[in-house]
Amino acid sequence: MTEPKKLFIKTYGCQMNVYDSERMAEALGGQGYVETKSPDDADMILLNTCHIREKAAEKVYSELGRFKGLKAEKPDLKIGVAGCVAQAEGEEIMRRQPMVDLVVGPQSYHRLPEMEAKTRDGEKALDTDFPEEDKFEKLKTRPKAKRGPTAFLTVQEGCDKFCAFCVVPYTRGAEVSRPADRIIREAQDLVERGVREITLLGQNVNAYHGAGPNGDMTLAGLIWELNKVDGLERIRFTTSHPNDMGDDLIEAHGTCEKLMPYLHLPVQSGSDKILKRMNRSHTAESYLRLIERIREARPDILMSGDFIVGFPEETEDDFQATLDLVEEVKYGYAYSFKYSTRPGTPAAERPQVKTHIADDRLQRLQAMITRHQREIQDAMVGRTVSVLFEKPGRQPGQMVGKSEYLHAVHVSDADVASGELRQVRITASGANSLAGKLL
Ligand code: SF4
Repeated sequence: MTEPKKLFIKTYGCQMNVYDSERMAEALGGQGYVETKSPDDADMILLNTCHIREKAAEKVYSELGRFKGLKAEKPDLKIGVAGCVAQAEGEEIMRRQPMVDLVVGPQSYHRLPEMEAKTRDGEKALDTDFPEEDKFEKLKTRPKAKRGPTAFLTVQEGCDKFCAFCVVPYTRGAEVSRPADRIIREAQDLVERGVREITLLGQNVNAYHGAGPNGDMTLAGLIWELNKVDGLERIRFTTSHPNDMGDDLIEAHGTCEKLMPYLHLPVQSGSDKILKRMNRSHTAESYLRLIERIREARPDILMSGDFIVGFPEETEDDFQATLDLVEEVKYGYAYSFKYSTRPGTPAAERPQVKTHIADDRLQRLQAMITRHQREIQDAMVGRTVSVLFEKPGRQPGQMVGKSEYLHAVHVSDADVASGELRQVRITASGANSLAGKLL
């Protein structure tokens, strides 16, 4: 009986990369690979990269440099680079790091088994195509393992928005929506393997318009179809653009029982001047009106956002407009970053805000966001929430899960297992989680 080959995958970046890494592990599972947590005993090392941060490519090259010794010790060790840096850099990776055997883009990783076989014959394998064939259909033939209670499911890829700071349209390509029937089949398969909560993924997920039985289906239409899947208890989706929040999606937040009261809706800035420079195609006012309509449909919804400070030409007044917007919305979660130049994007050529100014603004914004986050969490004390338990907590006898608002909730000494959905009364609020009692 041959020893299974060991695969070490390191994933950077977004939830879609997490989803892709799971699919790549399944694809190579058909080649006899099992995953290992340590690169030292791997037969193949795969870096699934992200191109979002500054110097993203340089970080990949230095990471690869760390495997030089390992490759010298184990000449049969195969090293591959996947994800958005693979797509952006392609052949350049093999030129700069000749020890790399395989480079594969996000749209063609369903061809990994053939590519891996090629490297076993001592050849290099490079594929950064945007192939016609549906990679998900190719992938679905691979054997599947039991799953935990939550899972990501990609329904849409790519983006047509071309925000001035973003590489996604260049590395992931144009928006493509998967046919609804295939998504529903994959959801049913996930439920059979133990999943109770699915997060629908897309770089611009609320622009989803996949082929359905009666023509194009919107994201709301897809959510109502998934709502019929027995055993699926919760539906979430990310990441959305304000301009694609259709009336039917807002309405679904008010009426679809399985759609969770949590919405991640990036805005990036509160200044109309900066929103224009970012090519976001909406104003702060229209965004605030949209939030109002969403809260009318679902008053207890928890809003989450993304912010960039120090975008080229941002003045103190522009930044103040961002603080005013955050104060008005009060986010339960918000991710905030200093603008970082991404080669090849329009904003990269513009005059940059001084680092110390951007640092100061980021600190002030994060202080406000943390204050709001804490206020919203503290207000949960005394309330009853439903928690999908996922795993044991750090303390003995502790179990952890997520509430419908995506808050981490832990209970102690409770007879509850992973995958159980239970009512919990919140008794305390901590820095980043809540404590509660099972009802
Ligand atoms: S909508 Fe999002 S993914 Fe698309 S270009 Fe803008 S920031 Fe990038």
